[in-house]
Amino acid sequence: MLGRRRPVHIGLSARIFHPEHGGTGLKTKTLQVLEQSVAQWAASRDTLVLMVPSVLSDGALMRSSIRIRDYADYLDGLILQGGADVSPRAYGEEPLKPEWSGDPVRDAYELELVHEFMEAGKPILGICRGMQLINVALGGSLYQDLPTQCPESRGHETPDYDRNAHEVTFTPGGQFVKWFGGVTGGPVASIHHQAVQHLGKDVVVEATAPDGVVEAIRWTGRSFVCGVQWHPEFHHLNSDMLDCHPLLEAFLAAAR
Ligand code: MN
Repeated sequence: MLGRRRPVHIGLSARIFHPEHGGTGLKTKTLQVLEQSVAQWAASRDTLVLMVPSVLSDGALMRSSIRIRDYADYLDGLILQGGADVSPRAYGEEPLKPEWSGDPVRDAYELELVHEFMEAGKPILGICRGMQLINVALGGSLYQDLPTQCPESRGHETPDYDRNAHEVTFTPGGQFVKWFGGVTGGPVASIHHQAVQHLGKDVVVEATAPDGVVEAIRWTGRSFVCGVQWHPEFHHLNSDMLDCHPLLEAFLAAAR
């Protein structure tokens, strides 16, 4: 087709499944996967989506000269998927309970991704854990367990999983209000155990839940670095949900 734009090349961080104790077959292996709906959401515009595997300098396999930095040079933007909790050690705390220890292996991988994409001036969009990771990468901290550390919060993690919805309100005068064309918020699919506690450096709140929990953040620095606590990729399951394509468009515009 004449005049067809080169598709934007978007990297997706991997979800990491570690070998399961007592597992057999593939469950004895470390799996790096992408969840289908986040890839399809990212690909719902003129976008080529590629998953970025971790690159370990002490990996068991033969090393090559390829580094995460090479992915940041090659790709136009980065989306951080949801998944396991961030380790409290990533923000200078000890886990209050062993089950809140998070995944330090994935933290190290994604912190390097964020660092390299920011160094390259390439846009980053964080989803759920990805938003929390961005806040931590910029020096912020999290509630390790929302129900116990923030008891007035409610409804952020239920068995409904991808259909668990609550309202968010965009910050008046914020960037989201501009991107969404004056829409002031709406219902979102938000399922999470942790939440932003202290904001990172030069990070502003773009949306909050009715109980005050931070639901979207944005870095005010020189490049697009933004995160949402909710899962826009699940919104097609329910037509009442907030249409988040304006956010995807803003991210892709920054990537072009
Ligand atoms: Mn929530």
